[in-house]
Amino acid sequence: MCLNMLFLGESVSGSRQYGCNVCGKTFPRPSKLAVHVRKHTGEKPFPCRVCGRAFAEKGSMKKHEFNIHSVVIPWSDSSIG
Ligand SMILES: [Zn+2]
Ligand SMILES: [Zn+2]
Repeated sequence: MCLNMLFLGESVSGSRQYGCNVCGKTFPRPSKLAVHVRKHTGEKPFPCRVCGRAFAEKGSMKKHEFNIHSVVIPWSDSSIG
């Protein structure tokens, strides 16, 4: 979904920039922007598989699982994300 996403066109260097229209931050890739806008929407699609606590970013959730529960469950990164 494209909520809160704004295409700003190309910069002088020729690289495209995608801006968050909530805080104005820009990102080189729409996927990066999509991750960022979750901070505004509060969407947390990555729950901890041990306690169920939800995280906005998969990396944060993995860190939580490792730091809090000391678990390392292999992710099939090729099929998820
Ligand atoms: Zn923002
Ligand atoms: Zn947990």
